[in-house]
Amino acid sequence: MNAPIKAPSLKLGCIADDFTGATDLANNLVRAGMRVVQTIGVPSGALDVEVDAVVVALKSRTIAPAEAVAQSLDALRWLQGQGASQIYFKYCSTFDSTPQGNIGPVTEALMAALGTDFTIATPALPDNGRTVFKGYLFAGDGLLNESGMQNHPLTPMTDPNLVRVMQAQCRSKVGLIDYRAVALGPEAVRARIAELKNQGVRIAIVDAVSNQDLLRLGPALKDLPLLTAGSGVAIGLPANFGLAPTPQASALPPAAGLCAVLSGSCSVATHQQVRHFIESGRPAFVLDPLRIAAGENVAAQALAWAEPLLKNGPVLVYSTAKPDEVKAIQGKLGVQAAGEMVERALGSIARGLLERGVRQLVVAGGETAGACVQALGVKQMQIGPQIDPGVPWCHTVTEFGPLHLTLKSGNFGSEDFFIKAFQQLS
Ligand code: ADP
Repeated sequence: MNAPIKAPSLKLGCIADDFTGATDLANNLVRAGMRVVQTIGVPSGALDVEVDAVVVALKSRTIAPAEAVAQSLDALRWLQGQGASQIYFKYCSTFDSTPQGNIGPVTEALMAALGTDFTIATPALPDNGRTVFKGYLFAGDGLLNESGMQNHPLTPMTDPNLVRVMQAQCRSKVGLIDYRAVALGPEAVRARIAELKNQGVRIAIVDAVSNQDLLRLGPALKDLPLLTAGSGVAIGLPANFGLAPTPQASALPPAAGLCAVLSGSCSVATHQQVRHFIESGRPAFVLDPLRIAAGENVAAQALAWAEPLLKNGPVLVYSTAKPDEVKAIQGKLGVQAAGEMVERALGSIARGLLERGVRQLVVAGGETAGACVQALGVKQMQIGPQIDPGVPWCHTVTEFGPLHLTLKSGNFGSEDFFIKAFQQLS
């Protein structure tokens, strides 16, 4: 990219494989003192704001590996053009992927493009109960494959051993930096990296069970051109650039307008949030994918339902369904087709809600969030204060006006998230 460099302050260049994940990463960087902008896709021109980090949000988690690689390399070239000195490839804290990828293929392509022979991989996010021990990923008190993630509609995770999962997606040899090295600190991690490199290992899963582990890891990663991780590793990086936490990093303009929630997530936490919202007596409209498939204009029905209710407080439109219902729908419509149908409907409902005056919007689900921000034409979001771990409010300007937006990854957020989020803004 030949565009003039307008962000000489840029330190960290990040590439996220989905939109909620991008916000989760940006949130951690902001909390650790970085000023952060998240872009939706790769921008066409140079950045026009002074920031310490940019997170380029792709929607590459479940697309074909070759396409994910092409988009990630495009993002890399843009970030390099803006002067980024270190690159961070961000994926989900539950390592969402299929045996084809895309975590492995994208990691290897970024390594080749950066000319580096070693990187790390760890989805650890202790604040949200994602911990890695001896290479095994835990989600809460259980292993990944017992957490509900084994039933994910698009990326079912049935093996909790990340060395094995990553190796299946990579040509490079995958190894492990285990908790003993991490507990001893940066010197021991650097020594372990040297040892692994001697063994021909190019990618190492890293154990981390606490934020202290991640903070100890930070300095050891300072000189790696590429890091690949969930959002957890980010907490230890701003200090490498001499930055410390400051409240100014998360300041947003004041909020106004009507409130709505859109949920296309079928994850366990989202189920609880949908139930809590409905049980609190608030209005909710369920989307049935089979009716969309039958040609009904479900989006128009949802908007006609929502219109008179919006003035009374937040409304919820959701397709969130139990694993057996999702399986039955996928059996009839196909996995991809069912997902895309729901995403398209929720995207067009998002537009209709903004047309009707919604200016505070919660979107639940990574893929769903991607569909909604694309439908709304959002190009760039300023990252604001955290609502729950991994989920900040963001601010953007759309063709309908300014919008406060939060993109909630499926398994994030407390039970009352859909109500609490708006209370925090007011
Ligand atoms: P999460 O963050 O919980 O993984 P996502 O939005 O990333 O949520 O993924 C959920 C996927 O499931 C989306 O593609 C969505 O369109 C699809 N989906 C949502 N509801 C249903 C449903 N009732 N039946 C089938 N697929 C669904």
